[in-house]
Amino acid sequence: MGNSPSPVWHPFTQHGLGEPIPLIDRAEGARLYDREGNSWIDAISSWWVTTHGHAHPRIMAAIRAQSEKLDQLIFAGWTHEPAERLAAELVRITPNPLTRVFFSDSGSTSVEVALKMALGYFANIGEERHRILVLEHSYHGDTIGAMSVGERGVFNRPYQPLLFNVGTIPFPQEGQEQQTLDALEAACAEKPAAFIVEPLILGAGGMLIYPAWVLAEMRAICARHGVLFIADEVMTGWGRTGTMFACDQAGIIPDIMCLSKGLTGGAIPLAVTLCIEPIFAAHLSEDRARLFYHSSSYTANPIACAAANANLEIWRDEPVQQRIDTLADAQGAHLAMLTHDPRVANARRIGTITAVDIVAPDGGYLSGLAPRLAAFYRERGALIRPLGNSVYLMPPYCTTAADLAHLWHVIKESLDRL
Ligand SMILES: *Cc1c(COP(=O)(O)O)cnc(C)c1O
Repeated sequence: MGNSPSPVWHPFTQHGLGEPIPLIDRAEGARLYDREGNSWIDAISSWWVTTHGHAHPRIMAAIRAQSEKLDQLIFAGWTHEPAERLAAELVRITPNPLTRVFFSDSGSTSVEVALKMALGYFANIGEERHRILVLEHSYHGDTIGAMSVGERGVFNRPYQPLLFNVGTIPFPQEGQEQQTLDALEAACAEKPAAFIVEPLILGAGGMLIYPAWVLAEMRAICARHGVLFIADEVMTGWGRTGTMFACDQAGIIPDIMCLSKGLTGGAIPLAVTLCIEPIFAAHLSEDRARLFYHSSSYTANPIACAAANANLEIWRDEPVQQRIDTLADAQGAHLAMLTHDPRVANARRIGTITAVDIVAPDGGYLSGLAPRLAAFYRERGALIRPLGNSVYLMPPYCTTAADLAHLWHVIKESLDRL
C-alpha cells in the first residue's frame, strides 16, 4: 500500500475518504501481486477487460514482436498489416451484414463513433432523423455523447447541461417486457435515428439481465421502422455472457456493433465499431463533405491491433469456450447456494457473470455499503467492487476452482459480518 503523497487523480475514486490504494507490481492469470508478496484475485477482470487472464503469453509476445516493427502510424489514408488482418478477421467472425470496421481506442469512443455513423448515415441519405433511443439504466461510457445515451444520475449531474436529449425506453423488468416493447414501438414510430442497447445485460447499471427473446423483439421493432440498431457489446463481447457475442443468443444482427474491453484480451486499449454496408455506402462519394469526420491519434495502433490478433488466435487455438462453460457452471453452482439466503435478493447469472443484491435498508450507491464491502474483500485477497448494493463477479476465464471458491467464501463472510 502506498501512502506517500501522489499526484495521481484516480477515476471513480473519492480521494477525500483516504482509502488505501494498493500499488500493484505484476499480474498473472487471475491474480494481482504487490511488491510485498500480497496477492488479490481479480474478480472483476480489472474492470471487465481481462478475458483469458493477465499477461497471456501469446498476447505479450505479439505486443513485443509488433513493437520491434511498427509502433504507430497515421491511419487516415495509410494502413498496416495488423489492422488489415484484424478487420478481416472481425468481419469473418461476426454476422455477414457487418462488413465495415472503424477503429478507435476505448468503449466510449466506439460508442461516439456508432452515434456519429448513425447520424452521418441519415444526413447523407437526406432523411431527417437524429433522435437516439436508449434503454433505462444503460451505461455506454463517460465521454459527453456516451453519457448522453446513458442513465442520468449522480454520476453525471454537473455535466447535464451538455448532454443531448434522448428517448428513454423502460428497462424490460421481468413480467413487464411487453411495456418495454410497446414503448419502443411507439418511440420508433416518431422516426428516431437509432436505438442503442447493451445486449442481454446492463453492466454498470447494476448487472441487470433480460431475456434473449426481448432483445430479438427489440431488434425486430427497429428493423420494421428503419431505426438503426446499435449493439454496445463493449462489456458483453468476447464470451462474458457464455457466447462470443451476446447478440448470438438472440440470433440477431445489429446494424452497428461496438467492441472494446476484451478485444485485446484486456491487455491494451483498442476498440472497433462495425457497421453494415449501407452506412459505409452512404458516406461513399466523390464529395469530401460526405466523408466520415472522425479520428483519434492512435486509431488502429499497430501494437494494439497485434494484441487483438493474438486474442483472436487464442480464441481459435485454445479451448476458450470450454473454459467459459466450466467457469459459468461453477459460478452457477456457487450462486445456487446463496439463492435462498434471505440476506440477498435477485441472485442472477448470465454466462460467466454472477450478481446478488445485498438486502440492506439503506441501499443505493452513496450508502457507503459498496466501499465498505470493497475494503472488506480487499483485506481478504479479493478485488471485488460492488455496484451500490449489487455484488457481482466477472472473473477471467482462467480463474481456478479454488480461487472462485475463495471469492464466494468472502462474499458469504461479508454477509455474516454485515
Ligand atoms: C465499459 C463500457 C463502455 C465504455 O468503455 P471505456 O473503454 O471505459 O470507455 C461502454 N459501454 C459499455 C457497455 C461498457 O461496459
